[in-house]
Amino acid sequence: MQLDIRTLTFTLQLFALVFAVGMFLVQRGQPAMRGLSWWAAAYAAAGLGFLLLALRGAIPDFVSVVVASALLLASLCFFREGAIRFRRQPRRLPWLGAALLALLVPTLMYYLYVVPNVANRVVAVTLTNAIPAALTAWLLAKDVPIRLRSSHWFTAAAFGQMVIVSAVRVAHTLLHPPDNLMTAGPVHALYLLSVLLLLVMSIFGCIWMLTMHQEIELERQARTDPLTGAMNRLALAESITRELARAQRNGRPLSVLMFDLDFFKQLNDRLGHQAGDAALKNVAAATQRHLRASDLLARYGGEEFVAVLPDTDKARAVETAERLRQEIESLGIPCGNGTALTASYGAATYPADGDDFDSLVASADAALYKAKQSGRNRVVAA
Ligand code: GH3
Ligand code: MG
Ligand code: MG
Repeated sequence: MQLDIRTLTFTLQLFALVFAVGMFLVQRGQPAMRGLSWWAAAYAAAGLGFLLLALRGAIPDFVSVVVASALLLASLCFFREGAIRFRRQPRRLPWLGAALLALLVPTLMYYLYVVPNVANRVVAVTLTNAIPAALTAWLLAKDVPIRLRSSHWFTAAAFGQMVIVSAVRVAHTLLHPPDNLMTAGPVHALYLLSVLLLLVMSIFGCIWMLTMHQEIELERQARTDPLTGAMNRLALAESITRELARAQRNGRPLSVLMFDLDFFKQLNDRLGHQAGDAALKNVAAATQRHLRASDLLARYGGEEFVAVLPDTDKARAVETAERLRQEIESLGIPCGNGTALTASYGAATYPADGDDFDSLVASADAALYKAKQSGRNRVVAA
Protein backbone atom coordinates (compact mmCIF):
# COMPACT_ATOMS: atom_id res chain seq x y z
CA MET A 1 0.00 0.00 0.00
CA GLN A 2 1.34 3.41 -0.91
CA LEU A 3 0.16 6.34 1.22
CA ASP A 4 0.68 9.39 -0.91
CA ILE A 5 1.51 12.42 1.23
CA ARG A 6 0.00 14.96 -1.13
CA THR A 7 -3.29 13.02 -1.26
CA LEU A 8 -3.25 12.79 2.55
CA THR A 9 -2.77 16.53 2.95
CA PHE A 10 -5.66 17.23 0.56
CA THR A 11 -7.84 14.83 2.57
CA LEU A 12 -6.81 16.53 5.80
CA GLN A 13 -7.69 20.01 4.60
CA LEU A 14 -11.09 18.80 3.47
CA PHE A 15 -11.86 17.18 6.84
CA ALA A 16 -10.54 20.16 8.78
CA LEU A 17 -12.52 22.75 6.83
CA VAL A 18 -15.77 20.76 7.14
CA PHE A 19 -15.14 20.37 10.89
CA ALA A 20 -14.43 24.11 11.19
CA VAL A 21 -17.82 24.98 9.73
CA GLY A 22 -19.52 22.30 11.84
CA MET A 23 -17.87 23.42 15.07
CA PHE A 24 -18.64 27.05 14.33
CA LEU A 25 -22.33 26.14 13.94
CA VAL A 26 -22.27 24.06 17.15
CA GLN A 27 -20.83 27.06 19.04
CA ARG A 28 -23.56 29.30 17.59
CA GLY A 29 -26.18 26.88 18.91
CA GLN A 30 -24.42 26.50 22.29
CA PRO A 31 -23.23 29.97 23.22
CA ALA A 32 -22.95 28.95 26.89
CA MET A 33 -20.27 26.34 26.15
CA ARG A 34 -16.91 28.03 26.18
CA GLY A 35 -14.01 27.45 23.84
CA LEU A 36 -15.81 25.91 20.85
CA SER A 37 -15.11 28.89 18.59
CA TRP A 38 -11.40 28.43 19.34
CA TRP A 39 -11.76 24.84 18.18
CA ALA A 40 -13.60 26.03 15.05
CA ALA A 41 -10.67 28.38 14.43
CA ALA A 42 -8.26 25.50 15.04
CA TYR A 43 -9.93 23.36 12.37
CA ALA A 44 -10.03 26.32 9.98
CA ALA A 45 -6.32 27.08 10.48
CA ALA A 46 -5.47 23.40 10.03
CA GLY A 47 -7.60 23.20 6.88
CA LEU A 48 -5.93 26.22 5.36
CA GLY A 49 -2.48 25.04 6.43
CA PHE A 50 -2.94 21.63 4.82
CA LEU A 51 -4.35 23.20 1.67
CA LEU A 52 -1.22 25.33 1.30
CA LEU A 53 0.99 22.35 2.11
CA ALA A 54 -0.76 20.26 -0.55
CA LEU A 55 -0.07 22.99 -3.12
CA ARG A 56 3.68 22.59 -2.60
CA GLY A 57 5.41 23.31 -5.91
CA ALA A 58 2.42 25.10 -7.40
CA ILE A 59 2.69 28.11 -5.10
CA PRO A 60 5.76 29.94 -3.68
CA ASP A 61 7.72 27.89 -1.13
CA PHE A 62 7.36 30.61 1.45
CA VAL A 63 3.60 30.07 1.43
CA SER A 64 3.57 26.28 1.12
CA VAL A 65 6.27 25.79 3.76
CA VAL A 66 6.48 28.73 6.16
CA VAL A 67 2.90 30.03 6.11
CA ALA A 68 1.43 26.53 6.03
CA SER A 69 3.54 25.38 9.00
CA ALA A 70 2.71 28.55 10.95
CA LEU A 71 -1.00 27.89 10.35
CA LEU A 72 -0.69 24.29 11.57
CA LEU A 73 1.12 25.41 14.70
CA ALA A 74 -1.50 28.13 15.24
CA SER A 75 -4.17 25.44 14.87
CA LEU A 76 -2.75 23.39 17.76
CA CYS A 77 -2.37 26.54 19.86
CA PHE A 78 -6.05 27.32 19.17
CA PHE A 79 -7.01 23.81 20.33
CA ARG A 80 -5.16 24.57 23.55
CA GLU A 81 -6.90 27.94 23.96
CA GLY A 82 -10.26 26.23 23.43
CA ALA A 83 -9.43 23.52 25.98
CA ILE A 84 -8.42 26.17 28.55
CA ARG A 85 -11.78 27.90 28.14
CA PHE A 86 -13.79 24.69 27.96
CA ARG A 87 -12.27 23.51 31.24
CA ARG A 88 -12.50 27.03 32.71
CA GLN A 89 -8.85 26.94 33.61
CA PRO A 90 -6.66 29.96 34.32
CA ARG A 91 -4.83 31.00 31.17
CA ARG A 92 -1.27 29.93 31.93
CA LEU A 93 1.62 30.73 29.53
CA PRO A 94 -0.44 33.10 27.36
CA TRP A 95 2.68 33.91 25.33
CA LEU A 96 3.43 30.28 24.48
CA GLY A 97 1.84 30.27 21.01
CA ALA A 98 3.56 33.48 19.98
CA ALA A 99 6.88 32.22 21.35
CA LEU A 100 6.63 28.94 19.43
CA LEU A 101 5.76 30.81 16.23
CA ALA A 102 8.65 33.22 16.78
CA LEU A 103 10.91 30.19 17.10
CA LEU A 104 9.47 28.20 14.20
CA VAL A 105 9.22 30.84 11.46
CA PRO A 106 12.90 31.96 11.42
CA THR A 107 14.04 28.34 11.79
CA LEU A 108 12.00 27.33 8.74
CA MET A 109 13.25 30.34 6.75
CA TYR A 110 16.82 29.45 7.67
CA TYR A 111 16.46 25.80 6.60
CA LEU A 112 14.50 26.81 3.50
CA TYR A 113 16.64 29.65 2.10
CA VAL A 114 20.00 29.79 3.87
CA VAL A 115 20.92 26.14 4.44
CA PRO A 116 18.15 24.13 2.73
CA ASN A 117 17.45 21.08 4.89
CA VAL A 118 14.16 19.18 4.83
CA ALA A 119 15.01 17.01 7.84
CA ASN A 120 15.63 19.97 10.14
CA ARG A 121 12.42 21.62 8.96
CA VAL A 122 10.50 18.43 9.74
CA VAL A 123 12.05 18.23 13.21
CA ALA A 124 11.29 21.91 13.95
CA VAL A 125 7.66 21.61 12.82
CA THR A 126 7.04 18.31 14.62
CA LEU A 127 8.57 19.44 17.91
CA THR A 128 6.82 22.81 18.03
CA ASN A 129 3.47 21.19 17.17
CA ALA A 130 3.86 18.51 19.81
CA ILE A 131 4.11 21.07 22.64
CA PRO A 132 0.59 22.59 22.38
CA ALA A 133 -0.78 19.11 21.54
CA ALA A 134 0.69 17.66 24.74
CA LEU A 135 -0.59 20.60 26.81
CA THR A 136 -4.08 20.23 25.30
CA ALA A 137 -4.14 16.52 26.14
CA TRP A 138 -3.11 17.32 29.71
CA LEU A 139 -5.70 20.11 30.07
CA LEU A 140 -8.51 17.85 28.89
CA ALA A 141 -7.49 14.83 30.95
CA LYS A 142 -6.61 16.21 34.37
CA ASP A 143 -9.03 16.41 37.33
CA VAL A 144 -12.11 15.23 35.44
CA PRO A 145 -15.19 14.18 37.43
CA ILE A 146 -15.91 10.50 37.00
CA ARG A 147 -18.95 10.89 34.75
CA LEU A 148 -17.04 13.08 32.31
CA ARG A 149 -13.95 10.92 32.33
CA SER A 150 -14.54 8.72 29.26
CA SER A 151 -15.41 11.63 26.97
CA HIS A 152 -12.55 13.81 28.25
CA TRP A 153 -9.94 11.08 28.15
CA PHE A 154 -11.02 10.05 24.67
CA THR A 155 -10.56 13.62 23.45
CA ALA A 156 -7.25 13.93 25.28
CA ALA A 157 -6.13 10.71 23.58
CA ALA A 158 -6.71 12.41 20.21
CA PHE A 159 -3.89 14.81 21.08
CA GLY A 160 -1.83 12.32 23.07
CA GLN A 161 -1.47 9.85 20.20
CA MET A 162 -0.17 12.65 17.99
CA VAL A 163 2.48 13.51 20.57
CA ILE A 164 3.66 9.89 20.58
CA VAL A 165 3.74 9.70 16.79
CA SER A 166 5.62 13.03 16.80
CA ALA A 167 8.35 11.51 18.94
CA VAL A 168 8.63 8.59 16.52
CA ARG A 169 8.77 10.97 13.56
CA VAL A 170 11.48 13.12 15.10
CA ALA A 171 13.62 10.09 15.94
CA HIS A 172 13.11 8.62 12.48
CA THR A 173 13.89 11.91 10.75
CA LEU A 174 17.13 12.31 12.67
CA LEU A 175 18.16 8.74 11.79
CA HIS A 176 17.00 8.81 8.16
CA PRO A 177 16.86 12.42 6.94
CA PRO A 178 14.50 12.71 3.93
CA ASP A 179 15.32 15.10 1.10
CA ASN A 180 11.78 15.70 -0.11
CA LEU A 181 8.77 15.80 2.21
CA MET A 182 6.27 14.83 -0.47
CA THR A 183 8.11 11.53 -1.08
CA ALA A 184 9.41 11.11 2.45
CA GLY A 185 8.04 7.63 3.19
CA PRO A 186 5.80 5.76 5.61
CA VAL A 187 6.73 7.39 8.93
CA HIS A 188 5.84 10.81 7.53
CA ALA A 189 2.65 9.40 6.07
CA LEU A 190 1.96 7.88 9.51
CA TYR A 191 2.34 11.34 11.03
CA LEU A 192 -0.27 12.75 8.67
CA LEU A 193 -2.58 9.83 9.45
CA SER A 194 -2.08 10.63 13.11
CA VAL A 195 -3.13 14.23 12.41
CA LEU A 196 -6.19 12.89 10.57
CA LEU A 197 -6.93 10.76 13.61
CA LEU A 198 -6.54 13.84 15.80
CA LEU A 199 -9.06 15.77 13.72
CA VAL A 200 -11.64 12.98 13.65
CA MET A 201 -11.20 11.93 17.29
CA SER A 202 -11.21 15.49 18.56
CA ILE A 203 -14.45 16.44 16.83
CA PHE A 204 -16.16 13.26 18.00
CA GLY A 205 -14.71 13.69 21.49
CA CYS A 206 -15.73 17.33 21.63
CA ILE A 207 -19.36 16.54 20.78
CA TRP A 208 -19.28 13.69 23.31
CA MET A 209 -17.92 16.01 26.02
CA LEU A 210 -20.59 18.58 25.17
CA THR A 211 -23.36 15.98 25.41
CA MET A 212 -22.10 14.79 28.80
CA HIS A 213 -21.78 18.33 30.16
CA GLN A 214 -25.33 19.08 29.02
CA GLU A 215 -26.69 15.86 30.48
CA ILE A 216 -25.17 16.71 33.85
CA GLU A 217 -26.44 20.28 33.67
CA LEU A 218 -29.96 19.13 32.78
CA GLU A 219 -29.93 16.67 35.67
CA ARG A 220 -28.81 19.45 37.99
CA GLN A 221 -31.61 21.71 36.72
CA ALA A 222 -34.16 18.92 37.10
CA ARG A 223 -33.21 18.66 40.79
CA THR A 224 -32.90 22.35 41.63
CA ASP A 225 -35.45 25.02 42.39
CA PRO A 226 -34.59 27.79 39.94
CA LEU A 227 -35.61 30.66 42.23
CA THR A 228 -33.74 29.76 45.40
CA GLY A 229 -31.15 27.25 44.17
CA ALA A 230 -32.32 24.83 46.88
CA MET A 231 -33.18 21.23 45.99
CA ASN A 232 -36.66 20.61 44.63
CA ARG A 233 -39.02 17.90 45.87
CA LEU A 234 -37.72 15.27 43.50
CA ALA A 235 -34.18 15.70 44.80
CA LEU A 236 -35.46 15.94 48.38
CA ALA A 237 -37.32 12.62 48.19
CA GLU A 238 -34.21 10.89 46.80
CA SER A 239 -31.90 12.50 49.35
CA ILE A 240 -34.06 11.72 52.38
CA THR A 241 -34.38 8.09 51.30
CA ARG A 242 -30.60 7.86 50.91
CA GLU A 243 -29.91 9.63 54.22
CA LEU A 244 -32.49 7.47 56.03
CA ALA A 245 -30.86 4.30 54.74
CA ARG A 246 -27.53 5.60 56.02
CA ALA A 247 -29.03 6.52 59.41
CA GLN A 248 -30.61 3.06 59.66
CA ARG A 249 -27.32 1.35 58.81
CA ASN A 250 -25.35 3.38 61.33
CA GLY A 251 -28.05 3.39 64.00
CA ARG A 252 -27.98 7.20 64.06
CA PRO A 253 -30.87 9.66 64.35
CA LEU A 254 -31.88 12.00 61.52
CA SER A 255 -34.06 15.09 61.80
CA VAL A 256 -36.30 16.91 59.39
CA LEU A 257 -37.26 20.56 59.79
CA MET A 258 -40.22 21.92 57.88
CA PHE A 259 -40.67 25.65 57.90
CA ASP A 260 -43.11 28.08 56.36
CA LEU A 261 -42.88 31.85 56.12
CA ASP A 262 -45.42 33.71 58.25
CA PHE A 263 -48.08 35.87 56.59
CA PHE A 264 -46.20 35.66 53.35
CA LYS A 265 -49.29 36.34 51.31
CA GLN A 266 -49.50 39.79 52.96
CA LEU A 267 -45.90 40.55 51.99
CA ASN A 268 -46.75 39.70 48.38
CA ASP A 269 -49.96 41.72 48.49
CA ARG A 270 -48.32 44.80 50.00
CA LEU A 271 -44.92 44.84 48.31
CA GLY A 272 -45.48 42.81 45.15
CA HIS A 273 -44.39 39.39 43.97
CA GLN A 274 -40.88 40.51 43.11
CA ALA A 275 -40.28 41.53 46.70
CA GLY A 276 -41.76 38.14 47.66
CA ASP A 277 -39.35 36.34 45.34
CA ALA A 278 -36.40 38.31 46.73
CA ALA A 279 -37.48 37.40 50.26
CA LEU A 280 -37.63 33.69 49.34
CA LYS A 281 -34.12 33.84 47.89
CA ASN A 282 -32.87 35.69 50.90
CA VAL A 283 -34.38 33.22 53.37
CA ALA A 284 -33.02 30.22 51.44
CA ALA A 285 -29.52 31.73 51.24
CA ALA A 286 -29.46 32.63 54.95
CA THR A 287 -30.69 29.15 55.88
CA GLN A 288 -28.11 27.49 53.67
CA ARG A 289 -25.37 29.58 55.28
CA HIS A 290 -26.38 28.43 58.75
CA LEU A 291 -26.75 24.74 57.97
CA ARG A 292 -23.82 22.31 58.06
CA ALA A 293 -22.32 21.15 54.80
CA SER A 294 -23.88 17.71 55.30
CA ASP A 295 -27.39 19.17 55.83
CA LEU A 296 -29.75 19.49 52.89
CA LEU A 297 -32.20 22.25 52.05
CA ALA A 298 -35.18 21.86 49.72
CA ARG A 299 -37.99 24.12 48.66
CA TYR A 300 -41.00 21.96 49.41
CA GLY A 301 -43.73 24.23 48.09
CA GLY A 302 -44.40 27.96 47.53
CA GLU A 303 -42.90 29.38 50.73
CA GLU A 304 -42.34 26.10 52.55
CA PHE A 305 -38.90 24.62 52.97
CA VAL A 306 -37.58 21.34 54.32
CA ALA A 307 -34.15 20.92 55.87
CA VAL A 308 -32.72 17.44 56.39
CA LEU A 309 -30.22 17.17 59.23
CA PRO A 310 -28.37 13.85 59.22
CA ASP A 311 -26.95 12.56 62.50
CA THR A 312 -29.08 15.01 64.50
CA ASP A 313 -31.35 14.12 67.44
CA LYS A 314 -34.52 15.97 68.41
CA ALA A 315 -32.89 18.32 70.92
CA ARG A 316 -30.20 19.45 68.49
CA ALA A 317 -32.75 19.75 65.68
CA VAL A 318 -34.86 22.10 67.83
CA GLU A 319 -31.74 24.10 68.69
CA THR A 320 -30.86 24.39 65.01
CA ALA A 321 -34.41 25.42 64.12
CA GLU A 322 -34.35 28.03 66.85
CA ARG A 323 -31.08 29.45 65.52
CA LEU A 324 -32.51 29.52 61.99
CA ARG A 325 -35.70 31.18 63.21
CA GLN A 326 -33.73 33.95 64.93
CA GLU A 327 -31.53 34.35 61.89
CA ILE A 328 -34.51 34.81 59.53
CA GLU A 329 -36.10 37.36 61.86
CA SER A 330 -32.81 39.23 62.18
CA LEU A 331 -32.56 39.55 58.38
CA GLY A 332 -35.19 42.28 58.84
CA ILE A 333 -36.95 41.53 55.55
CA PRO A 334 -39.77 44.11 55.42
CA CYS A 335 -43.32 42.79 55.26
CA GLY A 336 -44.86 46.13 54.34
CA ASN A 337 -46.48 46.68 57.76
CA GLY A 338 -43.44 47.73 59.75
CA THR A 339 -42.59 44.20 60.94
CA ALA A 340 -39.82 41.85 59.81
CA LEU A 341 -40.54 38.58 58.01
CA THR A 342 -40.55 35.53 60.29
CA ALA A 343 -40.96 31.80 59.86
CA SER A 344 -42.49 28.92 61.83
CA TYR A 345 -40.73 25.57 62.25
CA GLY A 346 -41.81 21.99 62.80
CA ALA A 347 -39.19 19.37 63.72
CA ALA A 348 -39.46 15.58 63.42
CA THR A 349 -36.80 12.98 64.12
CA TYR A 350 -36.10 9.45 62.86
CA PRO A 351 -36.86 6.93 64.29
CA ALA A 352 -39.31 8.35 66.91
CA ASP A 353 -41.55 10.34 64.54
CA GLY A 354 -41.36 8.23 61.39
CA ASP A 355 -39.12 5.87 59.48
CA ASP A 356 -39.69 6.91 55.87
CA PHE A 357 -39.87 10.10 53.83
CA ASP A 358 -43.67 10.44 53.96
CA SER A 359 -44.11 9.76 57.66
CA LEU A 360 -41.24 12.05 58.70
CA VAL A 361 -42.44 14.92 56.55
CA ALA A 362 -46.02 14.37 57.78
CA SER A 363 -44.82 14.58 61.42
CA ALA A 364 -42.79 17.72 60.72
CA ASP A 365 -45.79 19.21 58.89
CA ALA A 366 -48.10 18.47 61.84
CA ALA A 367 -45.60 20.14 64.20
CA LEU A 368 -45.39 23.13 61.86
CA TYR A 369 -49.17 23.38 61.88
CA LYS A 370 -49.05 23.56 65.70
CA ALA A 371 -46.40 26.29 65.51
CA LYS A 372 -48.71 28.28 63.22
CA GLN A 373 -51.74 27.67 65.48
CA SER A 374 -49.91 28.74 68.61
CA GLY A 375 -48.89 32.13 67.24
CA ARG A 376 -46.21 31.65 64.50
CA ASN A 377 -42.49 32.66 64.59
CA ARG A 378 -41.67 29.65 66.78
CA VAL A 379 -40.35 26.11 66.75
CA VAL A 380 -42.48 23.07 67.67
CA ALA A 381 -41.19 19.50 67.85
CA ALA A 382 -43.33 16.52 66.84
P1 GH3 B 1 -49.17 31.63 57.10
O1 GH3 B 1 -48.49 32.44 58.16
O2 GH3 B 1 -50.36 30.93 57.63
O3 GH3 B 1 -48.22 30.69 56.44
O4 GH3 B 1 -49.70 32.69 56.05
P2 GH3 B 1 -49.23 32.82 54.57
O5 GH3 B 1 -49.79 34.06 54.03
O6 GH3 B 1 -47.74 32.71 54.50
O7 GH3 B 1 -49.78 31.49 53.95
P3 GH3 B 1 -50.44 31.11 52.59
O8 GH3 B 1 -50.16 29.66 52.34
O9 GH3 B 1 -51.88 31.52 52.62
O10 GH3 B 1 -49.71 31.97 51.50
C1 GH3 B 1 -48.55 31.55 50.88
C2 GH3 B 1 -48.24 32.56 49.83
O11 GH3 B 1 -46.97 32.35 49.28
C3 GH3 B 1 -49.20 32.51 48.68
C4 GH3 B 1 -48.38 32.82 47.49
O12 GH3 B 1 -48.76 34.05 46.92
C5 GH3 B 1 -46.98 32.96 48.01
N1 GH3 B 1 -46.01 32.32 47.17
C6 GH3 B 1 -45.86 31.00 46.93
N2 GH3 B 1 -44.84 30.79 46.06
C7 GH3 B 1 -44.33 32.00 45.75
C8 GH3 B 1 -43.28 32.45 44.92
O13 GH3 B 1 -42.57 31.68 44.26
N3 GH3 B 1 -43.03 33.78 44.85
C9 GH3 B 1 -43.79 34.65 45.57
N4 GH3 B 1 -43.49 35.95 45.46
N5 GH3 B 1 -44.79 34.27 46.35
C10 GH3 B 1 -45.08 32.96 46.45
MG1 MG C 1 -46.83 30.93 55.03
MG1 MG D 1 -47.45 27.93 53.02
